[in-house]
Amino acid sequence: MNYSKKSTSRKQKALKSRKSKMGKKLGVVFLKTLLVLFIAVGVAGLCGGIGIVKGVIENAPDITSASVLPRGYKSTVYDADGNKTAELIAEGTNRTYVKLDNIPKHVQEAFIAIEDERFYDHNGIDIQGMLRAGVKFVTSGFRTTQGASTITQQLLKNNVFDFMSEHGMLEKIERKLQEQYLAVKLEDIMSKDEILESYLNTINLGQNTLGVQAAANRYFGKSISELDISEAAVLAAITKSPTEYNPIKHPDANKTRRALVLKNMLDQGYISQNDYDSAMEDDIYARISEHNEETQSTNTVYSYFVDALIDQVQKDLVEKAGYSATQASNALYSSGLKIYSTQKPEIQSALDEEFANGENFPANTKVAIEWAMSVVDKDGNTTNYSQEMMFKYYKEQNSGYEPLYSSEEEAQAAIDGYVATLGITDDDTVYEKSSFIMQPQASMVIEDQKTGEVVAMIGGRGEKTANKTLNRVTNALRNPGSTFKIVAAYAPAFEELGYGPGTVQYDGPFAYTENGKVGRLVNNWDKKTQYRGWTTLREAIARSMNIVAVKTITDVTPSVAIDYLLRFGFTSLQLDGANSDAGQAMALGGLTNGVSNLELTAAYAGIANGGSYYKPKLYSKIVDNEGNVILDNTVEEPTQVISEQNAWLLIDCMKDVVTGAGGTSSAAKISNMTTAGKSGTTSENRDVWFVGMSPYYTAGIWVGYDNNGYKHELSSKAGETSFHKKLWSKVMSRIHQNLENKDFDKPSGIVQVTICTKSGKLAIPGVCDSDGRSGIVINEYFADGTQPTETCDKHVLANICADTGLLATTMCPNQIVQSKVLLPPMQSGVAEAVTLDTAYGISSNLQAATCTVHTGGVYLPSIYEQTGSAAGAVTPTDPNAAAADPNAVAADPNAATADPNAAAAADPAAGDGTAGSAEGQ
Ligand SMILES: [Zn+2]
Ligand SMILES: [Zn+2]
Repeated sequence: MNYSKKSTSRKQKALKSRKSKMGKKLGVVFLKTLLVLFIAVGVAGLCGGIGIVKGVIENAPDITSASVLPRGYKSTVYDADGNKTAELIAEGTNRTYVKLDNIPKHVQEAFIAIEDERFYDHNGIDIQGMLRAGVKFVTSGFRTTQGASTITQQLLKNNVFDFMSEHGMLEKIERKLQEQYLAVKLEDIMSKDEILESYLNTINLGQNTLGVQAAANRYFGKSISELDISEAAVLAAITKSPTEYNPIKHPDANKTRRALVLKNMLDQGYISQNDYDSAMEDDIYARISEHNEETQSTNTVYSYFVDALIDQVQKDLVEKAGYSATQASNALYSSGLKIYSTQKPEIQSALDEEFANGENFPANTKVAIEWAMSVVDKDGNTTNYSQEMMFKYYKEQNSGYEPLYSSEEEAQAAIDGYVATLGITDDDTVYEKSSFIMQPQASMVIEDQKTGEVVAMIGGRGEKTANKTLNRVTNALRNPGSTFKIVAAYAPAFEELGYGPGTVQYDGPFAYTENGKVGRLVNNWDKKTQYRGWTTLREAIARSMNIVAVKTITDVTPSVAIDYLLRFGFTSLQLDGANSDAGQAMALGGLTNGVSNLELTAAYAGIANGGSYYKPKLYSKIVDNEGNVILDNTVEEPTQVISEQNAWLLIDCMKDVVTGAGGTSSAAKISNMTTAGKSGTTSENRDVWFVGMSPYYTAGIWVGYDNNGYKHELSSKAGETSFHKKLWSKVMSRIHQNLENKDFDKPSGIVQVTICTKSGKLAIPGVCDSDGRSGIVINEYFADGTQPTETCDKHVLANICADTGLLATTMCPNQIVQSKVLLPPMQSGVAEAVTLDTAYGISSNLQAATCTVHTGGVYLPSIYEQTGSAAGAVTPTDPNAAAADPNAVAADPNAATADPNAAAAADPAAGDGTAGSAEGQ
C-alpha cells in the first residue's frame, strides 16, 4: 500500500488554509475588541432594549417548545409480540428518551448543582453568572467564554443552533445574543421541568451517548431510575467536556470534576454530609470500566425484515405523513420512533431455521462472486475493474464459461487468476471488495391475508453480513412464470367474462399473434405434443396448461388484465413502449422487468382474502417519542379486486394444484391443513416459484440464480426445480401445527351444477357421458348467475360409418349412431394436431370428416338431434367465422336439421392450415 500521495495532498491543503488564516489574524484582534463591546451591549439590550440588539433579535430563529425537543434518538422496532427486535441508530448517536418523572431527583440535582445553580431562580439567563464570566473573559485575555450558559441556553445551543455554523466572531456574538434572547422567550413557553427534561435527554455524555438514560445504560448497565448519587455525579461531571471528562478514557479528570459536583450538591443543600462522604468513598470507576466491556457492541446487521421495514417506513413518512426525504430519514434514525412491526417471532424463526438447514436445499451448492477493484498508480491515476470485466475475460478464454464455482477456494482462485493479468505493481494502491454468495439463492415471505400483515420474510440463504444487502423478497424482480396465470389471466376473465372453473378452452395447437400475424406456437410447459383437447379451466389450473391460459388472456385482453394486475398491487409492470408487458405472453409470466416475491405473494393474499387486496404491511403503527401515533397502518382499507365468489372459485381450483389429480404441486401440501397454491417455472429453469395459501396465511417462495444475465439453469436432475415446494411445505407445516384445520370460507352465491367438461354446459344424459370416456360429466361450482342454462353443444350424436369411423354418407352400408365431440377449427395458419379428443371427435370441417371409402353417394353430414332434446345437434357454421372464435363452433340448438349445403360449402382449408407445426420443442 502506498498512501504517500494522499498524505502529501492533505499537507498541502493544510498549508493553504493556514496561509489564509494568517491573513485574517489582524481582523481577529479587531473583532475581539468588538466582542467585549457586544457582550456589554447584549447584556444591556436584554435589560433595557437597544436598537442594534433588536435587529439581531429579529433575526433570531423562531422557537416553539417543539424546537428544543431532543433529536438524535434511536428508533426502536418491536415485533408483533412486543419484543424489541432492532434499534435504528443514525451513525454516531445512541439515545433513549426518558421522562423527568423517571429521572431520580438526585440526578437532576447533580446537573443543576454543577451546570446552573440558579436554574430555578433565573428567567433563562443568569445575569450574575454572566457578569462574572464577562470579567473572567477579559482578565483571561479573551481566552474563555465558558461558564455563563444556563441550562436553558445549553438546551437551545444543542437543539436550535446545533446545525448552524458560526463563521467568525460577529456571528458568534450574534448567536450568543440570540441564544440569550431565546432563552428568556423559551422560559415563557416551557416550564422549568419541561426544560430540564429536554436538557437531560439532550446532553452529550461521551462516546456518542446522548441523554442520561443512554449514559446510565452505557456506563452502569442500569436504567437511569436506578442510579445512585455517586453514579449521578459521574454523569454530571462529563457535561463540561464529553471527551476530556469521559469516565472510561479519563477517569482521573472525571473523578476531580465529580468531586466538585458532589461538593456543589452538598453546599447547595441537595445532599447530606453522609451522602457526600459515602459517595466520595465509592470506588466507582472500577464498576464503570467493568460494565463498558459488557456493552461494547459491534455494528448490528439488521435482518431482511428490518431492512425492508426501514424502506417501507421511510416511504410512508414521505407519502403519507408529508415528510421530505431528509426529514423522513432523520425521523427514522434520530427521533426516537417506536415502530411496531408485523413480524411474528415464532414464524420468523421457523422460516430462518428451515432456510439455515442445508438439508432442505440441493447438494453441491455453488458460489457466485461479487467483486470490484480499484487500482491507483503512483501518479494518482485510478483504474476500476468490475466482476463483469472478469467474467468477460474468462468468457473469451472459454465460451461455455459460467461465473459459478464449486467452492470459495475455486472462486478466489478465479479472482486471483484474473488479478494476475492486470499488471499491478508494488507502486500501486489496490482497493478490493469481494464476497462470495451461495447459489442458487432463495427467498420466502409469509403474509396474514386477513390483515395484509407480513409476518415473516427471508431475503436470501446464507449468512447476512451487512445491512441493505440484496433482499430477494422485496428488491429482486424476477419473471413469475405460471404463478402469473392466476392473477393475469384467470382472475380477470372470471371477473370480466363470467368465466369459472367450468369454462372450457381447447388445448390444441395455438399461436401467439405477433404484429398482427400468426407467430410462435404457445408451448405447454411439459413441452410434449400431447394436447388435451377441450379442457376446463379447473383442470388447466391444476395441470398448469399454457395454451389455455394464453387463450384466456386473449379473450379478456391483455390490457384489461393489466388493469387487474395494477389493482393487485404490482408496481414493476412495463406499461407502455416496445417492451410493454401488455401481451398474450403475460399470462405465462413473460414480463419485461419481472415482479418481486413480496408483490406476487401479496396479490395471492388478496385472493385468499376473498378478493380483497391489502398492500403488504410491515408495521402496524409508528409512534413518536411524545407518544403520538404518526402512522397507523391498521386503518388502511383493502381494495376489492375480484368478487368473493370468484376468489373462492380460484382458490378451489388452486386446491387441485396441490391435492387434485394431475396437480403439479402435491409436494407443497401443508401437513394436516387445507392447502391451495400455484407453481411457476420460467424458461430455461431460471426461476422456480410456489405461491400458496392456507385459510390462515399466504406465502411465496422463489429459487434461482442471482445473476440472470447468464444462462444459469436450475437443474431438475439435481432437484433444484422441486425442493422449494417441500421447503415451502416444511415452513408452513411448522407454523400451522397448532392451528385448527379448516377449509376456506365459502361465500354465499356459489352454486353447483352438473356439467359436461367438454362444453362447460349442462350435460346431456346419454350423450355427454357416453363418448367412450369416463369422468366427462362432473359437478362444478359457479358464481351464481354464471352457471350454464344451455345444454352441451360440443357433444353430438352422429351417424357414423361403422367401417371407417367417419361421418356416414348415403353410400355407407353399416351405419351406427355415436356420441362424438366436435373438434374446433384450427386457428388460421396453424396446423392441426392430435389431442386427447381426436379419437372421440369429429372435425368441424365436416367434409374432411366424411367417409372416404363409400364415396360417390349423396354427400350427407349425418348429424341428428338427440331424441327428446333440442340440443345435441350441430349446424355446421361458417368455418371462417368459427376460426375467429373457437367457441363459436357452438351450434344453434334450435336448428334441428343440418343444412347439407352449408356443410358442402365449407372451405376445407379452414381447418388445415399450412404454416407452423406442432413441434414439441
Ligand atoms: Zn357434452
Ligand atoms: Zn363409409
